[in-house]
Amino acid sequence: MADRSRIRYGNNESPTASPGTGRKKVHQSPSSRTKHHISAPGHNFRKVTLTKPTYCHHCTDFIWGLAGFLCEVCNFMSHEKCLKHVKTVCSWMASTLVRVPVSHCFSPLGHKKKFCSVCRKQLEESSALHCEVCELHVHVDCAPFSFSDCRQCHHDGHQDHDICHHHWREGNLSSSARCEVCKRTCGSSEVLSGMRCEWCGITAHASCYIILLPECKFGRLKKMILPPNCVRVNSRNFSKMHCFRISESSQKEPDDSDDVDRSVAGNLKETQSTSSSDSSKQTLKIFDGNDAVKRNQFRLISVPRIAKNEEVVEAALRVYYIPDEPQDYELQIYCQQVLVNEDITNCNGATENPKSQSVFKESVPEAWVLQAKPKESEVLKIYAGWLKLGVAYISILITKKTTVESVIKEVLQQLGRSDEDPEGLRLVEVHMGSKQVQRQVLMNQELLLEKLQAIRKNSIRQMNQTRFYIVENRNSVVQVNLLVSGLPVQLSEKEYTELLQEHLAIKTHLVSVTHVYTGQGAVVLEISCFSEAERIYMLAKDTTINSKQISAVIIPEIMHKKLPQECCPLLVFVNPKSGGLKGRDLIYSFRKLLNPHQVFELTSAGPLPGLHTFRQMPHFRILVCGGDGTVGWVLGALEEMRHKLACLDPAIGIVPLGTGNDLARVLRWGAGYSGEDPHSLLMSLDEAEEVLMDRWTILLDAQEVVDEDKENGVTEPEPPKVVHMNNYCGLGIDAELSLDFHHAREEEPGKFNSRFHNKGVYVKVGLQKISHTRNLHQNLQLQVDQHEVELPSIEGLIFLNIPSWGSGADLWGSDSDGRYGKPRLDDGLLEVVGVTGVVHMGQVQGGLRSGIRIAQGAYVRVTITKPIPVQVDGEPWIQPPGEIIISAAGPKVHMLRKSKVKQKKQSGSLKESRTDSLTLSEGVN
Ligand SMILES: [Zn+2]
Ligand SMILES: [Zn+2]
Ligand SMILES: [Zn+2]
Ligand SMILES: [Zn+2]
Ligand SMILES: [Zn+2]
Ligand SMILES: [Zn+2]
Repeated sequence: MADRSRIRYGNNESPTASPGTGRKKVHQSPSSRTKHHISAPGHNFRKVTLTKPTYCHHCTDFIWGLAGFLCEVCNFMSHEKCLKHVKTVCSWMASTLVRVPVSHCFSPLGHKKKFCSVCRKQLEESSALHCEVCELHVHVDCAPFSFSDCRQCHHDGHQDHDICHHHWREGNLSSSARCEVCKRTCGSSEVLSGMRCEWCGITAHASCYIILLPECKFGRLKKMILPPNCVRVNSRNFSKMHCFRISESSQKEPDDSDDVDRSVAGNLKETQSTSSSDSSKQTLKIFDGNDAVKRNQFRLISVPRIAKNEEVVEAALRVYYIPDEPQDYELQIYCQQVLVNEDITNCNGATENPKSQSVFKESVPEAWVLQAKPKESEVLKIYAGWLKLGVAYISILITKKTTVESVIKEVLQQLGRSDEDPEGLRLVEVHMGSKQVQRQVLMNQELLLEKLQAIRKNSIRQMNQTRFYIVENRNSVVQVNLLVSGLPVQLSEKEYTELLQEHLAIKTHLVSVTHVYTGQGAVVLEISCFSEAERIYMLAKDTTINSKQISAVIIPEIMHKKLPQECCPLLVFVNPKSGGLKGRDLIYSFRKLLNPHQVFELTSAGPLPGLHTFRQMPHFRILVCGGDGTVGWVLGALEEMRHKLACLDPAIGIVPLGTGNDLARVLRWGAGYSGEDPHSLLMSLDEAEEVLMDRWTILLDAQEVVDEDKENGVTEPEPPKVVHMNNYCGLGIDAELSLDFHHAREEEPGKFNSRFHNKGVYVKVGLQKISHTRNLHQNLQLQVDQHEVELPSIEGLIFLNIPSWGSGADLWGSDSDGRYGKPRLDDGLLEVVGVTGVVHMGQVQGGLRSGIRIAQGAYVRVTITKPIPVQVDGEPWIQPPGEIIISAAGPKVHMLRKSKVKQKKQSGSLKESRTDSLTLSEGVN
């Protein structure tokens, strides 16, 4: 301790406000410096000279003249005339507005121009983060100073509220945003300004939104949003990323560890640039406590060489976003030896870091540790967990003798509940870090003032992110549901249990199998212990069974009985591999527009986790973002699951990604997604009409083995195979073309990312095939509805369920024909068409000709006498000689078709375009 040096100054006794002794309390300073303390919520305004064009954060107008008023803590800039109207709270105080602490899911920011929620300055792409679930955007350096104010998307048993409130986020609104209250523009592209509710999307001025009622009705997407109060996830230590199934491959952020504030280090650029040219100033490293020293995380301040101690302390406080008076703090010289004396482990931690090792007391006098001076007493806010209205807390004066127990008693007394047994209550310390919310139950005899001092000694910043809750002491039942997939198919429950015991060493007294999906090779586990759930989840990631990677997904519990009557949530499936990176962008948008718990990536375990999660939902709709193959995948999974779903016929809408998309074209969703506003996509889905569509079963019965297999010693014919078809199937030339394309794709998968590229390849392969001739009609016999059909001279035979083939071509043709009925999606009939070769196919695709109409019927039997290429919905293979039988597959499926009325009105106002087509939709009532 002998080496400790201090900057000291007098007047320890001056009465000061500690961080947040009252929510609306004006920050008073006894100092006589030239500061303007205005009754704005928590800001520390100072008059500054403007050297570059500047806008007011309150009214968003340009500030004419040379003087502006800047908050020294949060960088809020204001006109002098606007000062008295400022309602935006200062960033340090914003934590007091958090209703339920929920941590964020950070990932690197994309390309758009955004402003930082902490320092209010503009973000650069290279050093910015955004949340995957809400609209928080911050600098990497600022992230530790944001707190857990993310959207609450589910209940976790801590503080559950049944009424959903607006979730306000400041700034980054579209510049056309209008205020819900005064109807004037409230967005700005120049500064962080305006408020937006992250659930219903309404926008308002920071000075207007306060008068709106707190309850959120979810706005235009109300019917399709999965209400957060109907979702429950017991998730203690599971990261939010895992709960929302946000794939970590897209999470290559610089600070992806669970350390809350690794990124504080090196906030160098900004402060240095102002000081380097100015020799009258010096740059100091400031640590905000022992924790920062241990991690070697500091922030830099630049102060005049002849600065008073008080000014240095104040600058140090401001760089940590602390509005307090400097009198309550002191700076200690940064010194390893101090730490050695105080805490051996801190020093050991520090030696792992080569940077901090090189720092010696003598060589770096400009490194300082900010410490709070001990207090005799202070006012502490205690939040009552059961008070469900707003952010309610009780202020309690604590002294050196105050224990946790005495605080509980006093809270009861203040609430008029002193007859209650304090034994039934607990005091919980909640650290509201931006990446993690940590809860710790305090022991009854713990001394609270000491507790606060310990937190501040570790990190002064952390103190501003810490809250104390008084909660009822109940033993909540732990229940984590994990869906484990990638297991071998067609096993019994007992065999699956044994397999999991062998590979994951599951503890059978804590884990039970609740659902078995033998066809998909998946089981759902109910786990009654957090650490066992975490262990299984993590271990599954590194486990292969029969050389197949298995995976585990956390399944949220849907409390379907709490769903509002009219609610018909949307289950969203996105194939992120479709359509270049567009799938990823859509996942990101839909997570924010809806509840992330209703958005599923198809990559890890296919449609099963989503369908399983929604199995008890009385009504829901499905949105598939992907190519026709993806739609077929979901339809197939739905067929297999149908008897396990409470909603028998969920209607399916499509956002087409990738090439082809014949089904999406027929249902008016277009040829491919090209970046339309995701919100309007959802609105047109809401307005879409339901149509029925036939599905077909194809039975492939090979009577002979293929030559290839004979050579390999395989002589037994395979058992008949069954596949499903939604769009069309083709024999001969059209299948051969897609087969070549398929092989090319398998050889060089990296080349086939953009859907335009895909198209180019398709055409090239087509040209190469022109010299190839064959006589398909001589190698097969066709029977339609029990009648033999004479075939003309053709190279390709195609069976159509929908009137679009090969990326939008009309193969059947639009001419009316006395022989055949007009093709429909739901007429139970297939159209049979022939093409004479590649040239003919090209002409069909160019719209110059149609195919040769051959038949129309409900039951098709094809006998093939030599191996020929076959494709079903674009998936090609070589089929050995034998029988192919196509017949109707079970019930028709319900598809969503974009409303025509809506399309016509697209140029008009969006609000007016809600059409009567809704009356066609099912599942609303
Ligand atoms: Zn202004
Ligand atoms: Zn401020
Ligand atoms: Zn920032
Ligand atoms: Zn967030
Ligand atoms: Zn709202
Ligand atoms: Zn307004």
